[in-house]
Amino acid sequence: MRDEHPTATEVFERAKEKMPGISFATVYNSLRYLKDAGLIREIASFGKSPSRYDSETYRHDHAVCSSCGKLVDFDLPGTVALQRAAARASRFQAESVHLTLYGLCPDCRDSK
Ligand SMILES: [Zn+2]
Ligand SMILES: [Zn+2]
Repeated sequence: MRDEHPTATEVFERAKEKMPGISFATVYNSLRYLKDAGLIREIASFGKSPSRYDSETYRHDHAVCSSCGKLVDFDLPGTVALQRAAARASRFQAESVHLTLYGLCPDCRDSK
């Protein structure tokens, strides 16, 4: 589902409903395996909040609210150019670029 970006703990709680004997380490290792295989993505969160996982592997970017922790998907036109510029600057061969925007979501911004 597009709007889902669960933490490892949330994935674990869901897995436990179906497999009561499963351990957190098993879930965590599976997430790492899926990530290494390119089947899911890990998104580093802001500050102390835990990483989230994303099963949508088509290219898209994320915005994370630094106040409430809300995470939304968005697509930014122009990331192809950004990727080329990043590749030039780092002298890496570019495979993908992922942008994470940190800031206040509209709800938090309005309540300030
Ligand atoms: Zn917020
Ligand atoms: Zn996402």
